[in-house]
Amino acid sequence: MSEAFTPNERTRVVREPHRGVYDRESIYKILDEGFVCHVGFAVEGQPYVIPTMYARVGEAIYFHGSGASRMLRGVSSGIAVCVTVTLVDGLVLARSVFNHSMNYRSVVALGKAVLVDVPGEKVEALRAFTEKILPGRWEEARQPSEKELKATSILRLALTEVSAKMRTGPVEDDAEDYALKVWAGIVPLRMVADAAIRDERCDAGIAVPEYVAEWRR
Ligand SMILES: Cc1cc2nc3c(=O)[nH]c(=O)nc-3n(C[C@H](O)[C@H](O)[C@H](O)COP(=O)(O)OP(=O)(O)OC[C@H]3O[C@@H](n4cnc5c(N)ncnc54)[C@H](O)[C@@H]3O)c2cc1C
Repeated sequence: MSEAFTPNERTRVVREPHRGVYDRESIYKILDEGFVCHVGFAVEGQPYVIPTMYARVGEAIYFHGSGASRMLRGVSSGIAVCVTVTLVDGLVLARSVFNHSMNYRSVVALGKAVLVDVPGEKVEALRAFTEKILPGRWEEARQPSEKELKATSILRLALTEVSAKMRTGPVEDDAEDYALKVWAGIVPLRMVADAAIRDERCDAGIAVPEYVAEWRR
């Protein structure tokens, strides 16, 4: 398999093309770091963009399909979607309002999402979701029952038409604005996990598992 996605007329970054990224490693890293994707699809001309959790497994991403799956009933060929994942890394405070920005890494994936109906694949997708929430969780929590599996809609999008875009680095101001007496710089942002809070109905005799206590982001 090639190490980069080949951009086509739908996925080539046109605006600020130097920020376009197509190599699999960078794209998978963004997908694996993100927690939420936004799934865009159109129904009778009305676009919907629904946030949901997801997980990447190999060359595909899986996401919960409660919204999109309604439209998918009986449509075995799938539904056209645009899935985006966004990580915000910093606030870019320029000297001019016009040049304010954010440092970010984002992925856009296009294609047809299909309903996963093979039970084994559904279980694998649920395992990937659970392990994405917190590695180690799948083995401790109760596994899904047949009834729960049936009630869960999962969609798979093969990763074929994919692009990433990244902004990194300092403020970029217009040459004449560097002389302005305005503070300028970057405010880095990151997602952090605070100490875990025990559920009030969780037996105090159950120790916080290591994979929870020691998890850092
Ligand atoms: C946190 C954040 C803040 C942003 N703020 C602004 C803003 O204020 N103003 C602004 O103009 N833009 C902003 N962007 C960039 C924005 O996402 C678009 O890239 C930009 O608006 C150009 O859109 P376009 O459809 O004209 O791009 P085009 O370059 O025409 O898009 C062509 C193709 O490039 C790919 N592509 C485009 N954008 C992205 C992306 N972000 N990630 C992955 N693939 C992409 C897609 O496959 C798309 O179909 C921001 C992005 C992020 C993540």
